[in-house]
Amino acid sequence: MRALITGGAGFIGSALARHLVGQGADVLVVDKLTYAGHLSSLEPVAKAANFAFAQIDICDRAKLGEAFAAFQPDAVFHLAAESHVDRSIEHAHEFIATNLVGTFNVLEASRAYWEALPQERKQAFRVLHVSTDEVYGSLGADGLFREDTPYDPRSPYSASKAGADHLASAWFHTYGLPVLISNCSNNYGPYQLPEKLIPVIILNALEGRPLPVYGDGGNIRDWLYVDDHVEALCLIAAKGEAGRCYNVGGRNERTNLQVVHRVCELLDAHAKKASAHKELITFVADRPGHDRRYAIDATRLESELGWRAGETFETGMERTVRWYLDNESWWGPLRKAGVGVKRQGLLK
Ligand code: NAD
Repeated sequence: MRALITGGAGFIGSALARHLVGQGADVLVVDKLTYAGHLSSLEPVAKAANFAFAQIDICDRAKLGEAFAAFQPDAVFHLAAESHVDRSIEHAHEFIATNLVGTFNVLEASRAYWEALPQERKQAFRVLHVSTDEVYGSLGADGLFREDTPYDPRSPYSASKAGADHLASAWFHTYGLPVLISNCSNNYGPYQLPEKLIPVIILNALEGRPLPVYGDGGNIRDWLYVDDHVEALCLIAAKGEAGRCYNVGGRNERTNLQVVHRVCELLDAHAKKASAHKELITFVADRPGHDRRYAIDATRLESELGWRAGETFETGMERTVRWYLDNESWWGPLRKAGVGVKRQGLLK
């Protein structure tokens, strides 16, 4: 298999690239290397004969077309995106450019390439557009997001992803491009940029800084270990039905405060300090428009494609905390550069 991965220097894309290279697939990572993309996340596969990297902005249609023509992919995994909700509040234009216009370019480059393929390769070709559960909006105390839940995005990030999902769906219905869409819940695991909740809490705790909890800490997310998401993406691309959407989620609902407490407990066990890490917890102003609860019904993925999450929240969190403790060489330079240190997305 020849897999072109957009956004493959980011958190999830690099996990997918490391996995596929390990499986023997030929991989081309296409990434602009924004503040969120780091070649250090690809270091474990950088020297592999079946791995290649091209620094390309997906908004550059011509360069994207050249990459398709030169690499000749069998599958495209589209993960390149601006992905941080807090950032989207202050820098919405970048989210519209990459998530909407960039996705349009990826679809158009895929279509031009696919239309020219010989029949057999044309039939096997797939584009997997990787999206989020945030497009469905916010749940009350009950209920789960299903694939037929109406879209109701609330942040510039989720609105731009929702628009991208609609483009992907339109390219299937209008042009017959074999696109699939996955909508996944919150991921966590190694190589996640320290601007997102779990690595922020781990690193702030290690550095003795306050552990910021937005609002009352009661917002609920459905947490999935990143390698389980990667397994799901591979399964959807290989066995999913073109034109369909697949929800991906770990059935691991936790409030943000529960997540922060778990990180503190693990650090108390593995990086003991004189006082309990939870004493650093500090409640701060809530995120504007903060969705209250997300929860995924992954029945379609489980029953039709046989997917199961391999990690529980407990095992995944243990692995994650240990990884950050063992890999300061990855996150140290990012911290020094100020990534995730300053809060973003507060309205004046
Ligand atoms: P990330 O921010 O860690 O990585 C995004 C990558 O895209 C970076 O390497 C960045 O350099 C690259 N990129 C950004 N703009 C680009 C452009 N114009 N051209 C080329 N490359 C560009 O994001 P992530 O957490 O790995 O998320 C990957 C995808 O999965 C995103 O589409 C996101 O919406 C989706 N997703 C993420 C989560 C999550 O919890 N992190 C959950 C569900 C879905």
